[in-house]
Amino acid sequence: MRIFAIGRNYVDHIHELNNERPDDPVVFTKPDTAVLRNNAPFYLPSFSKDVHHEVEMVLKIGREGKNIEEKFALKYVDSISLGIDFTARDLQQKAKEKGLPWDIAKGFNGSAPLSDTFIPLNEIKDLRNINFRLEIDGKLKQQGNTGLMIFSVEYIISYLSKFFTLKTGDLIFTGTPKGVGPVSVGNRLTAYLEDEKMLEFEVK
Ligand code: MG
Repeated sequence: MRIFAIGRNYVDHIHELNNERPDDPVVFTKPDTAVLRNNAPFYLPSFSKDVHHEVEMVLKIGREGKNIEEKFALKYVDSISLGIDFTARDLQQKAKEKGLPWDIAKGFNGSAPLSDTFIPLNEIKDLRNINFRLEIDGKLKQQGNTGLMIFSVEYIISYLSKFFTLKTGDLIFTGTPKGVGPVSVGNRLTAYLEDEKMLEFEVK
């Protein structure tokens, strides 16, 4: 299983970090050791003083494919879920300034908490109108709607599959809306897809 992730896919989030709107999807990956399941606590790593939450819709790939055309892309999606793309913003900032890769800033252990709930695609009415949000200690921090994505699910799948053969079980983090910010020890993160609680875990 691989984890692909798309950066800068919501305009309002691009603005809050003073990034440029990309011409093509910004792609990075995380190793499988990044995944946290079962609402396991997230341990703040010692190497960063600024770990940010990024709540994102996650796609699970249901069949193998490469060079997938946009019009067939949804046939390759098994289900959707929610995850957090934890980012060591200080390490990422250093890498960005030097034009270096983001791997350690984005792919460290536990940097991808993932809901255990996956909603089959055929139960989704409209993939371009899904509300999701993140609360910390009961306060709303991020709120997104998949209709605001710059690159659609179909486009992302088609684009990724030009470079990488997508395999059954692969995960795609589709980008975060605005409201990212630091987490600290003792925080309780709760993420919802529409009104369904998908994730609830503690920062330790
Ligand atoms: Mg992200």
